[in-house]
Amino acid sequence: MTTHERPVDSVLETIGRTPLVRIHDAPAEVPIYAKLETFNPGASVKDRIGRYMLERMLERGDLPAGGTVIEPTAGNTGIGFAIAAGQLGVDAVFVVPERFSLEKQQLMRALGAEVINTPTEDGMQGAIDRAHSLAEELDDAVVPQQFSNPLNAEAHYATTGPEIYEALEGDVGAVVAGCGTAGTLMGIARYAREQNSETHVVAVEPEGSLYGEFLGEAREEGEYKIEGIGTHEPETNALFDPALVDDVYAVSDRAAHDELERLAREEGHLVASSAGAASIAARRVAQRIADGEIDAPYDSVVTVFPDSSERYLSKGIYRPFEEWEN
Ligand code: PMP
Repeated sequence: MTTHERPVDSVLETIGRTPLVRIHDAPAEVPIYAKLETFNPGASVKDRIGRYMLERMLERGDLPAGGTVIEPTAGNTGIGFAIAAGQLGVDAVFVVPERFSLEKQQLMRALGAEVINTPTEDGMQGAIDRAHSLAEELDDAVVPQQFSNPLNAEAHYATTGPEIYEALEGDVGAVVAGCGTAGTLMGIARYAREQNSETHVVAVEPEGSLYGEFLGEAREEGEYKIEGIGTHEPETNALFDPALVDDVYAVSDRAAHDELERLAREEGHLVASSAGAASIAARRVAQRIADGEIDAPYDSVVTVFPDSSERYLSKGIYRPFEEWEN
């Protein structure tokens, strides 16, 4: 796992097989493990869907050889698609709401992609609408639609899920992951429930996000600084299947920020806010298993750290909470 011991031909072959590392601030009897997705070549979990989705779309003929992918994205997906597109001979255009980190937009451009910004106030839906209207103007362009394309979750069902089970030899009690598109959690959860239908599954969102409404929980919509997870428009989150989720935990910006600082200081993880949120939620689940409140098939919790804090240094991710910008 992880160490790519033999030379490989393409950067695409270095995607996935990321390390699964124990998190030490956890109840002694219920270990927590985090999948370190920063080890991917584009330094995020989204490299997985970039490669998987483009390869499948080319195979199926949904995307013509030499065609163009146009995707609305908060950034990491753009980087993942840009890496894959560059290596697979496909052009890439990304529509990114202005508020998302400049580091990500620079990396997409460096990888040869075109980046188009939409106003922050139009939300993700504004970026989605713009991507579709651009695609209509070109005759070889496809919008992979990470928010609704089953290939997104399938990428994790085919790779992330099996990697976790292989590393822990099947002893997975609970799966905890942040939900942006929900592709990561849905793919892992579907694989997990096939291994053991009792596996406890928890979605993580920022306070102010509305994923909890899928499970009939009351939510108050609000702004949040945690980047990459959460939804203001649940109707756009077509991949989220409530039948695969036991609980949705909401984490505050402050708790996520404290935790991402702790993870760096105490455990050596340079991870960002969605990882901070996932870590808080994973600890809560582990504690509830330890306290007998959750009946999980094994005493262990697995979570995902999606990306690196280095991507948010310009937003002051390591400055005091009040100075951390959205
Ligand atoms: N964290 C970060 C930093 C992300 O960019 C994303 C993707 N939006 C996620 C978590 C959530 O991943 P998913 O879209 O698979 O739910």
